[in-house]
This record gives sequence, structure tokens and C-alpha cells, in this order.
Amino acid sequence: MTTEFLTELRALARTYAEPLRATAVALDRDPGLFRTVLDGALPWRQLVGLPAEHNPDPVRVQGRPVLLDTCVEQVVVLEELARADAGAVLALPGPSMSGFVIAELADDAQRERYWSTVAAGPTWTFFGMTEPTHGSDPGSMGTTLRPDGDGLRLTGTKRYVGNAARARIGVVFARRNAGPLGVVAVLVDTDRPGFVAEPLPTLGLRGLQLSEIRMTDVPVDAADVLGRHRSATRQGMWAATRTFNRYRPVVSCFALGVAQAAYDLVVTERRRYRADERHLLADWAQRLVGTRALVLAAARAADRDPGDGTLASAAKIRATRLAEEITTTAVRLLGPGARWEHPLLDKLVRDARAFEFMEGTGNIQRLTLAQGYLQGRLGDARAA
Ligand SMILES: Cc1cc2nc3c(=O)[nH]c(=O)nc-3n(C[C@H](O)[C@H](O)[C@H](O)COP(=O)(O)OP(=O)(O)OC[C@H]3O[C@@H](n4cnc5c(N)ncnc54)[C@H](O)[C@@H]3O)c2cc1C
Repeated sequence: MTTEFLTELRALARTYAEPLRATAVALDRDPGLFRTVLDGALPWRQLVGLPAEHNPDPVRVQGRPVLLDTCVEQVVVLEELARADAGAVLALPGPSMSGFVIAELADDAQRERYWSTVAAGPTWTFFGMTEPTHGSDPGSMGTTLRPDGDGLRLTGTKRYVGNAARARIGVVFARRNAGPLGVVAVLVDTDRPGFVAEPLPTLGLRGLQLSEIRMTDVPVDAADVLGRHRSATRQGMWAATRTFNRYRPVVSCFALGVAQAAYDLVVTERRRYRADERHLLADWAQRLVGTRALVLAAARAADRDPGDGTLASAAKIRATRLAEEITTTAVRLLGPGARWEHPLLDKLVRDARAFEFMEGTGNIQRLTLAQGYLQGRLGDARAA
């Protein structure tokens, strides 16, 4: 994809972002209003990465259809939408993270079942990994998948799972055997008996409707286990890691969109600056451009090899740090009552903080980055 192509794609995404900007504060107060946006100007079907057969009228750039099925296309478009309202973008129906797991693990029948459900109408999906007492450490995962007669039963609790309370279908990670290779991914319809998902009260990215899932002996079939036709080393955790590697550049672009929005707000609301403040703004402007380049490089690397998350972790560390720094310092630049006087800034501060935890904390990203560095992967990454 050429620079001209991506520049045109970004400009097009900006036109979709306008209605989101207008509703950002209202949606933050009441995420339930989201359907109004969906029914209005936002063409969700074109923006969420549906396959060609379910997206008959895709976005076109330079005469070419853009399905948003690559990380590069996603980070360019979603950064612009997140600059308007990251919470609303995360509230969009569609495949999100579970779609990556399907791409990695599903057989033909599972793929057909998943996509025909997701594309039928505005349908939400979820990716259930994190647990209340074990966090997102797969080594101690407590959710189990056990045989029961001719079928299987899922039991356990997942927490902080985006969109789960409104989802129709999703992927649950569960332990079938001991050890990391014993974790499998299961395709679950949320209307199964014993499956309950409820929204959690949250401060940031409220549109995402973080939820708790409680599963009590949920009946599933062997045909619901993703990757069962694969070897033991290419199942649940293998796919989860590749999903994280592909989605971290996307989370980075969300954080970057929030950072850019806070910068935009400061320069719109305040005209006169001291010399040190002018330097600070110039520094931010440069770092926004540099971080955008890193996020794009991470997206290219993820498209080329989802097995390598080195650059994705670097991008997430940098974009998250920038979002937190610009949003919190913007409060100082706009005066003592800034969060009260500018509800959008108050929302941006809360949204920025959430990225620290989403898809693994900064410490986990630093570990991945250090491992990649020690394995000599950063040299390759620079070529991205
Ligand atoms: C907005 C948002 C959306 C989310 N969406 C989803 C979702 O859709 N599905 C899902 O399953 N989960 C989701 N999560 C949960 C998220 O993935 C986890 O909260 C995140 O990975 C952190 O994991 P944890 O809560 O287990 O914290 P932990 O990993 O336990 O971390 C707790 C603290 O310990 C530190 N720490 C942990 N391990 C190490 C180590 N080895 N070395 C140094 N320090 C360490 C961490 O940095 C952190 O400070 C979401 C969270 C947020 C905030």
C-alpha cells in the first residue's frame, strides 16, 4: 500500500469520524445511546473488517475495495475514528478480537457459523481471556472445559471482557488439560444455558461495556472447540498470542487517537503560551508524528508475521505513554477547572488510562519487547 493510498484512506476515515465527535460526551454518559449512532451516519458494516461476501459495498480508495482486513488499514482508519471517540469505536459491533482467533483456528463449518452470525445484523462479539483471580495469566487459568456424557461443559468466570453483555457469540479460553498447551479456545453462543454476562461499572472507554461473564456448566460440543484439527502446539494460547500481536497495533492507534484529540483540544481552546509551553506543544506534535510512524510499522510487521509481537509491544508502550502524558498535562495547560469546563477532556483523561491495561499492561509489553530484543528481532522490525 502506497503512502498516497493510505493518505486518501485516512482522509476518508475523517469524514466518518464527524458524527462520532458530535456524540462523544453524550455516549460517555450513557453508552446505551450507541444504537442511535449506529442507526445514523456510521456505516458500521464497512468499518469492522467483515469478509467480502458479507460486505457487498466496501469503502473504496483509488477505485480499490478496502475491507479493513489488514492491520495497516485498521490502524489508519481506526486512529481517525478514535480521535473522535475511542469509546464509540470500541463499541462497534463486528468481529473485533474474536475475528482474529477465527482466522487462525476455525475450520470451514466454524467459520461459516461465526461469520453468518456476525454479519446478520449489528452483532457484538467478545474475546474472553481475563479472570478475576488469575488475571490474564494463562498458566493459572481457572475456567475449565470438561467432558460430560457425549458433550462438554464450560465452567468459570471471566472479567473485563469488552462488549460481552451485548454479544451474541464469542470466544472463551478454557483449560482442558494441565499446562499452557492445555488451554483451548471455544466458540460460544451467549444464549446457551448457564451463560450470564453483565456490564461492570467503569470510568474509561465506557462505550466498550466491559463485562463479567459467569459460566456454570455451559453445554458445548466438540465441534465448538476451535483448532481441534490442529496440533497441540497450535491451539488456544498460540492463537491468543497471535491475536494479541495483531491487536496491539490497533490498541496503539486508539491511544494515539486519544492523544491527538487532547492535543487538538488544547490548541483550539488556548491561544497564548509561555515559551516553555510552546516547546512542550512542539515536542508533542513531533512525538505524535513519530508514534504514528511506529504504529504503522508495527501494523505492517503484524500483517507480515503475527507470530512476532516485538514492534506491537513497542508501539503500545509508546502510544499509551503519550496518551496519558498529553491528556493529563492538557488539564494543567487549560487551568484548574479544566476537567469540569471541558467534559471532553475529562473523558479523554479517563479513556487514556484504560489503554495501560487493555491487551496487557506496560510491564508485560516491556517483557515482550525485551525478549524480542534479546532474540534479535528489533533488527528485522526496523525493516518494517
Ligand atoms: C479497556 C479494557 C478492555 C479489556 N478487554 C478485554 C477483553 O476483551 N477480554 C479480556 O479477556 N480481557 C480484557 N481486558 C483485561 C485486560 O486484558 C487485563 O486487565 C490486562 O491484561 C491486565 O491483566 P491483569 O488484570 O491480569 O493484571 P496483571 O497482569 O495481574 O497485572 C497486575 C500488575 O502486575 C504487573 N505485572 C504482572 N505480571 C508482571 C510481570 N511478569 N512482571 C512485571 N510486572 C508484572 C502489571 O504490570 C500490573 O501492574 C480489558 C481491560 C481493559 C482495561
